[in-house]
Amino acid sequence: MRRTARSVFTLGLWFIHATQRPTLMQVRLAHVLHGCTTLGPGRRTVLWVRGCARRCPGCIATPILGEGPSLVLDPDAAAQRILEAPGEEGATFSGGEPFEQADALAAVADRLQSAGVSVMVYTGFTLGELRASPDPGVAALLAATDILVDGPFVLEQQADLLWRGSANQRVHLLTPRYAHLAATLDSPGVGVELRLDRESNVFWAGVPSSDFSARLRRAGASRGMLLTGHEGVWA
Ligand code: SF4
Repeated sequence: MRRTARSVFTLGLWFIHATQRPTLMQVRLAHVLHGCTTLGPGRRTVLWVRGCARRCPGCIATPILGEGPSLVLDPDAAAQRILEAPGEEGATFSGGEPFEQADALAAVADRLQSAGVSVMVYTGFTLGELRASPDPGVAALLAATDILVDGPFVLEQQADLLWRGSANQRVHLLTPRYAHLAATLDSPGVGVELRLDRESNVFWAGVPSSDFSARLRRAGASRGMLLTGHEGVWA
């Protein structure tokens, strides 16, 4: 992969529907992963939203920053996908830039909070920038967020930290729900999760080290596996 990015990465070709034009109250997703343990506390469903106006050098999510195949869902349907997954403690919104879809994601987050499911959000904005926003959707999404990881990935500050890939990024506990984790937030990263789908694509999710791609190729080669494909999707 390119470099450690602020959030995750997996570019699956699962479930991707033909691109539809979303309304303000629909979420536009590039990927969904259930049972993820590397992007927040506990088992979580991760929604990777499509689209981010920035182009940070080294961003790991480059393939989903612009237009492309998307799954477009209204908030009820998006929340339902998460609530139907067995044993999930929470949901993590990554991307892409979740706050570019703040209205719709706030509605999803509200439904999750009502059901007792926690919400974690990655953003390239700082918490201060978000709090200064006049957009009511931004305020609504912040109000429904338990954990916010803020700031863009900065290549020069690349670091292996819990749930984030550069030292400028901060983990904010916005509600008391995860107050017990406060002392652990400067811990090292928790690595990357690999999944194999039915078509033998290998997906990964988490915040990888800068040499992750090379190490994955070497590990595969030493076991007689040839890994081909582009960053994040190996077959
Ligand atoms: S803000 Fe995040 S998702 Fe957007 S380009 Fe920067 S690192 Fe990538």
